[in-house]
Amino acid sequence: MASHKTHYEDCDVLVVGGGMAGTGATFEARHWGRDLKIICVEKANIDRSGAVAQGLYAINCYMGMQWGENQPEDHVRYARNDLMGMVREDLGYDMARHVDSTVHMFDEWGLPMMKNEKTGRYLREGKWQIMIHGESYKPIVAEAAKKSADKIYNRIMITHLLMDEEQENRIGGAVGFNMRTGDFHVFRAKTVIVAAGGASHIFKPRAVGEGMGRTWYAPWSNGSAYALPIAVGAKMTQMENRIVLCRFKDGYGPVGAYFLHLKTYTQNANGENYEKKWYDQTKELVGDYIDHHPTPTCLRNHAFIQETIAGGGPIQMVTTEAFQDPHLETVGWENFLGMTVGQAVVWASQNIDPKYTNPELTTSEPYVMGSHATCSGAWVSGPEDLSPPEYFWGYNRMLTVDGLFGAGDTVGGSAHKFSSGSFTEGRLAAKAAVKYIQDQKAEGIKVTDKQCEDFKEAIFKPLETYTVAQNEITGGTVSPSYISPIQGLQRLQRIMDEYVGGIATNYMTNGNMLKRGLELLAWLEEDLEKVGAEDLHQLMRAWELKHRALTSQCVTEHTMFREETRWPGYYYRGDHMKLDDENWHCLTVSRRDPKTGKFSLEKVPVYHIVDENEKKKAS
Ligand SMILES: Cc1cc2nc3c(=O)[nH]c(=O)nc-3n(C[C@H](O)[C@H](O)[C@H](O)COP(=O)(O)OP(=O)(O)OC[C@H]3O[C@@H](n4cnc5c(N)ncnc54)[C@H](O)[C@@H]3O)c2cc1C
Repeated sequence: MASHKTHYEDCDVLVVGGGMAGTGATFEARHWGRDLKIICVEKANIDRSGAVAQGLYAINCYMGMQWGENQPEDHVRYARNDLMGMVREDLGYDMARHVDSTVHMFDEWGLPMMKNEKTGRYLREGKWQIMIHGESYKPIVAEAAKKSADKIYNRIMITHLLMDEEQENRIGGAVGFNMRTGDFHVFRAKTVIVAAGGASHIFKPRAVGEGMGRTWYAPWSNGSAYALPIAVGAKMTQMENRIVLCRFKDGYGPVGAYFLHLKTYTQNANGENYEKKWYDQTKELVGDYIDHHPTPTCLRNHAFIQETIAGGGPIQMVTTEAFQDPHLETVGWENFLGMTVGQAVVWASQNIDPKYTNPELTTSEPYVMGSHATCSGAWVSGPEDLSPPEYFWGYNRMLTVDGLFGAGDTVGGSAHKFSSGSFTEGRLAAKAAVKYIQDQKAEGIKVTDKQCEDFKEAIFKPLETYTVAQNEITGGTVSPSYISPIQGLQRLQRIMDEYVGGIATNYMTNGNMLKRGLELLAWLEEDLEKVGAEDLHQLMRAWELKHRALTSQCVTEHTMFREETRWPGYYYRGDHMKLDDENWHCLTVSRRDPKTGKFSLEKVPVYHIVDENEKKKAS
């Protein structure tokens, strides 16, 4: 290991991932912890990293409380409805009551916000969304983090969390490697805030071969946010609740501004409103949930998927009416310039001018994330003033490992946070992490050199494996003694696609398929001990793959545990096709034993805090 220099850094708050939640955490940690040492470690470059790298056209979570537009309670009801009842309302409320202050800071920091000329308020795209010229969104929040941190490390991938060897179940820091220099980095920390984004590319994407990077979700989001805590035995929740997106075909351009601002609508190939056609069938599956307003996202997907299976495709977005208005036409195109330029290029290459041709839509492969219209992630403590005892263990957004915090996609149970809510949650986590330190909870942490050296050996092993095994290559990249990261990734994606409810089966799975999927994932895990990396970039790919594989195991275990179809349109349990409120109106929580690698799962009550409190007040 001599060739990989080791660097040690001791700090108070270590933020893993400098995306929306990570920049929020870094910024807020400095506010409460003026004298603390705050470090942020980012896999890419913080200026253009994470899901917001390319920019956004709308901030999707803003209450507008100053104008009485919405209250946090309204947002809780909205998220609860969209997730078919299954959210942590304490977390959602907590985020919602603080999110406006975050957005006001973005405004002060120079993010160009669109204003309603008549009212002077932020221009609404929908009930929750406000419109921005957001190409520079990420550099702006990155600057706030850079000014707050003692140091930002770019190009370092965190591969493992360190544990305190003095006190059981307490965090001690994290380790990783620099993808440019190949150096090994040890961060001994009193608290760690994991903010490493969600997971794409665990299910086989629609675009394969030369197009495989073209997914809706950022291709570099590799599930570290889940794998890091899972590996140290932190509890996870709702990992079965993967998300499937309805987006413009091939470019995955966003549809929000089209539906909400341009008032476009969808139709099948015969020009029919297909959603109506599937009403009775959906009611059979989910009961009254189909009558809720707005229609939960998964149920709209369900109609789309059923119509396509029934031969009604291609499904189209009707743009030809709205695009006759020059203003709306401009908005339609600008929408892509702010965040998905590739969609405009795809249309150009396919001769689609949305003024004259209605573009096709598609449903994506599933992704795992905790901040969009879905809520997979870590099981965290809520805030003291809101959370019932089962949801509270001392520090807001702390996982079930002491001193380990999470925010954004990392945190489960709290959907619809989006960019602004993720930044806000980072702030909440950082405030609590600082309090944890000030309360002397992080005293006497011991991390031995042996723990670090063992990780160092494990991290660089794929390079060693390749160095030795390359001599046995029989042709191209084929070798009997190692697999490459891309071979491993394709194997993982195929298992998840065919057994765990991907596009190959129209999102269908069942207990037997999941059982088989788990067997295949276990064998993959064994083989990943033999993953080989020919250079530092491939070493990153190897670790991304390992994190994806662990995340996938957790997703599969959860999907197997929940014996109902709670979110038709996201996935189906063919052996339990109906939503079952009697047995499954609950959250699922898992823990993987770090020693045995075995998962255990439990049901935890879902508390409907908002309306319960109102009922109590009324009585
Ligand atoms: C396609 C798409 C469109 C969206 N559109 C909108 C929108 O219009 N409006 C809106 O408000 N929100 C939108 N969102 C949601 C918003 O982008 C997310 O809610 C938000 O980015 C989540 O914040 P996060 O910090 O959890 O993850 P991210 O912002 O993705 O940040 C994660 C960071 O962790 C880093 N990282 C990952 N692994 C490691 C590791 N092992 N070591 C070190 N660093 C690591 C990554 O490089 C990244 O910088 C969209 C999301 C997507 C995917």
